[in-house]
Amino acid sequence: MPGRSLSVCGYRGCAEPAHYVVELDGKSVPLCREHFKSLLRRLEARASEEGAASLDQLSLTEDGDGAVAIRRRRGNR
Ligand SMILES: [Zn+2]
Repeated sequence: MPGRSLSVCGYRGCAEPAHYVVELDGKSVPLCREHFKSLLRRLEARASEEGAASLDQLSLTEDGDGAVAIRRRRGNR
């Protein structure tokens, strides 16, 4: 993503400074503390439902303006 800063949270609608960068689908996604915690909570919730969780189970969608949203990928394969 040329020209795109990794210093600001990439979560949709958020403009907080990024403190973490998460690799999802081969992309580096900057996240602020709040949204990183929110991502971890999703993973924990999924782990308790299914007994396992990893970042591989999340997929990434991107808006035209470059904002990103992290969504759960459907599990059953
Ligand atoms: Zn954020």
